[in-house]
Amino acid sequence: MLDVLVIGAGFSGLQAAYSAQQAGLSTAVVEARDRVGGKIWSVPLASGRGYAELGGAWINNSLQPRVWKYVERFGLEVVTQRLEGTAVMQETQDSRLEFPFGVSPDWSEAEKNNLAYIRDHIQAESLKPGLPSAQDDNVSLDQYVRNLGALPKVANMVNLWARVMHGVESTEESAAWFIDYCCRNKGLLAIRADDSTGGQYMRFKDGAQSIAEGIARLVGAQNIHLGSPVASVNEHGSHVSVVTRDGRTFNARKCILSIPSTMYKELSITPGLPQPVQEVTDGTVLGDYNKAIVCYDRPWWRSEGFNGYFASYAGPVILARDTSVDERNHFSLTCFVNGQPGRDWSKLCPHERRAVVIKQIAKIFKADANSEAFRPIEVFDQVWKHEEFSRGALAPIHALGHLTKYASVYGKPVGNLHFVGTEYSTEWKGYMEGALCSGERGAREVVEAVKKVPSKL
Ligand SMILES: Cc1cc2nc3c(=O)[nH]c(=O)nc-3n(C[C@H](O)[C@H](O)[C@H](O)COP(=O)(O)OP(=O)(O)OC[C@H]3O[C@@H](n4cnc5c(N)ncnc54)[C@H](O)[C@@H]3O)c2cc1C
Repeated sequence: MLDVLVIGAGFSGLQAAYSAQQAGLSTAVVEARDRVGGKIWSVPLASGRGYAELGGAWINNSLQPRVWKYVERFGLEVVTQRLEGTAVMQETQDSRLEFPFGVSPDWSEAEKNNLAYIRDHIQAESLKPGLPSAQDDNVSLDQYVRNLGALPKVANMVNLWARVMHGVESTEESAAWFIDYCCRNKGLLAIRADDSTGGQYMRFKDGAQSIAEGIARLVGAQNIHLGSPVASVNEHGSHVSVVTRDGRTFNARKCILSIPSTMYKELSITPGLPQPVQEVTDGTVLGDYNKAIVCYDRPWWRSEGFNGYFASYAGPVILARDTSVDERNHFSLTCFVNGQPGRDWSKLCPHERRAVVIKQIAKIFKADANSEAFRPIEVFDQVWKHEEFSRGALAPIHALGHLTKYASVYGKPVGNLHFVGTEYSTEWKGYMEGALCSGERGAREVVEAVKKVPSKL
């Protein structure tokens, strides 16, 4: 009998397994996919010029210490996000504004002041400790900012934040959930920043998945069972038995479940989770959070003075950044196709998905029909909702009212079953750092619990 069985080899599951092992517990991991990393997936380019990050990519060396410790430990190389140049805002299909990166678009004075007011209000709320109020949990983010007097363009900007941060519309998440998310992640401004003060500061030259592979090596390949989707989790009081879809059984004194809570209902868990836990987890949704990565032979947009960043209310791409690694001759634009535009886009067939993205890039950067914009060397279009073992991204979002109503049970152990995942993190929730933070916490919980009930074996 194992001390701990971890379900899922994403960042949180791997960290939980490693920390439990370090504390002297015998540990194994069962992972559905044939790879480790979960929503971190670095795919080698056919051109040999590095990797495409289909999932998470950005980190920060000073704000995200757990990730950074692994970067140093595994000797990984990073690049800082390139910021120089002109950014573009596409307000409708036919109107675009150019502006120096890092500055608000040239709106009217009233609109600029209104944006600053709403942004500063949310920033201030997100720096307050503790859970937001139940009242703010029962109102959508959209309604909340309209109640504060957001002008139409500013409400659109807030919707862009919801799309780019969570893959949903601002009508689909509560104001409290949004503010709490910002609170756990050092405030709205840190989440939005692309420089050393924020979450989009650095990227990996050879893929973020190298961290998962590194932790997996520490855990030991013999302890990680890939290609093993779990079908059922059965609590027996003294231990838990976990059965995979192909009928293998793993017995362990404690089980750590690291899959997103939205997916718990896909497992047969006996006895069922307590009613409040089931209600809150059944109520969560995962966003439409997709990437199209368009790789070119050279960064042609830079010669036109653009830095590759654009935001769009019109879509389908809602935000894009230059994700080149110049030293590797890798030149790419990573386009986020999220929220409602992403939902619509994901229904297109792959060649149509790629065509609309390339056309939008060309329009944004004023490239004509003969431009290099239309001659990418590789294109990826990753729809996370289509992934059987992810069902969307970034992290599960509570139903309106549930964040405050179920705060006392959400993520708390149930018998021998413990829950980890970036969604439960108190720091950098939704990020790789959050997944590691939650994995450490889950391991601490089981170590404490195992100490209290010494093994009879
Ligand atoms: C497009 C995109 C962009 C992102 N950008 C960033 C970024 O720039 N920076 C950042 O820090 N983060 C980013 N993230 C978020 C980051 O990837 C996640 O926060 C983090 O990887 C979540 O880790 P996790 O362990 O909580 O969950 P997951 O990675 O989802 O791990 C869960 C694991 O459980 C496995 N599993 C599922 N079902 C079963 C089953 N039945 N049996 C066994 N195993 C199962 C899955 O295969 C998976 O390996 C991004 C994510 C996406 C998708």
